[in-house]
Amino acid sequence: MAKTIFQKIIDGEIPADIVHEDDQCVAFRDANPQAPTHILIVPRTPIPSLDDITDEDEPLIGHLFTVARDVAADEGLDTGYRTVFNCGADGGQSVDHLHLHLLGGRQLDWPPG
Ligand code: 5GP
Repeated sequence: MAKTIFQKIIDGEIPADIVHEDDQCVAFRDANPQAPTHILIVPRTPIPSLDDITDEDEPLIGHLFTVARDVAADEGLDTGYRTVFNCGADGGQSVDHLHLHLLGGRQLDWPPG
């Protein structure tokens, strides 16, 4: 299967503004930010979407959230933030490599569009 744009970022083949990396994931700023802080937290394992996770991925999914919490603190998002997994066409997913959005730095609307 062809590498996704996120796999190319993880593999260092194309540049990104990386704010965190560890053995399980890489977090970098979204190229088209929807809020003053918009970061994508991406597992190194190329899982296509939330629909594709397995029971064995539960620790990894939890890790993505603890990274989101820590990056939010690093970014000074002291008054709140949002985490989102878009899944599939109706969910608005455009890159088929699982990623957790971290958004903050402004009042976020609810419900989302
Ligand atoms: P999705 O729509 O799949 O939930 O989110 C994909 C996100 O990836 C979008 O917010 C989009 O702006 C971002 N994105 C797409 N291509 C690139 C890229 O090459 N670099 C970075 N940093 N972000 C990207």
